[in-house]
Amino acid sequence: MRTLCERIRRPIAILFFALLLVPALARAQASQSAAAPPPLGPHPRVLIVVAHPDDESCFSATVYEITHNIGGSVDQLIITNGEGGYRYSLLAEGYYHEPLTNEAVGRAMLPDIRKREVLEAGSILGITTHFFLDERDVRYTLDIDEVLTQHWNAALVLDEVKHRLEVGNYDFVFTLFPSADTHGAHKAAAITALNAIAEMQGDKPVVLACQDASSRSATPLDWTGFQSAQHPYTVAPQRYSVDRNVKFGFNNVMDYQIIANWVIAAQKSQGAFQMGVNDIDKEQFAILDLAAPSDATKADQLFHALSDTAAHPVPLRPASSP
Ligand SMILES: [Zn+2]
Repeated sequence: MRTLCERIRRPIAILFFALLLVPALARAQASQSAAAPPPLGPHPRVLIVVAHPDDESCFSATVYEITHNIGGSVDQLIITNGEGGYRYSLLAEGYYHEPLTNEAVGRAMLPDIRKREVLEAGSILGITTHFFLDERDVRYTLDIDEVLTQHWNAALVLDEVKHRLEVGNYDFVFTLFPSADTHGAHKAAAITALNAIAEMQGDKPVVLACQDASSRSATPLDWTGFQSAQHPYTVAPQRYSVDRNVKFGFNNVMDYQIIANWVIAAQKSQGAFQMGVNDIDKEQFAILDLAAPSDATKADQLFHALSDTAAHPVPLRPASSP
């Protein structure tokens, strides 16, 4: 059953895609006439596919830079309601005036609260449209198959992700890296995105999977990923990184950590999330299921563009400016 939020946002999505129809057709024609895969266009399009509201925090700076610095657009598809996070809502009880850590209350109220929170985070990041699939967030587990067979209507989720990809003309999909020790729902979101793309016809988006990291950590990230005969995928050797510490602005005192902290602060129902403020300063990516060398070329182009513009975020001009 669709939420009010989804019903309101769907017409916005339809209008948005209608406006994109002409350039999308032009791009399709260009890809048919060129022998080589098309290079990344000037306005890259990204779909975030994640299990929970707040998972987008892994790539806060990357998304902000795409939407603000290089003229790209980003949509976000969120598979679950995130109501399993009620145990972290103690301090949010006073803020929302509801006993959210009571499981029955939390599971009833958090779906709408977390939608409002992620929409606020999305307004900070410049996300165009959110798509909510409203699947259940039952409990923490490492087991992807428990999520796919007991928590979600996996066939419906796969169809929704595939439909979104087919109509969205995306260059990239961002998801969380399916490491062995990450939530089974994070693994399931990444695998669902890969399976949906495998069933697509024509141009396919490049899947970039994120792990966040601290430059103060002496332990390198593990890019092995979880292993499962039922869910095979590959991790390409290329690594990409966005640095939240790049300085800019008046007296060179600002950086993208500020944006990441705004996003964290928007998700007040997830209390312990705040403890990570300033802890993470690197957003790192690997390509999953690299299909062709041109996939890596597109990713190279994206991250070069982000690096080139990172220290010079584009200021808004006053309305009266020419
Ligand atoms: Zn999550």
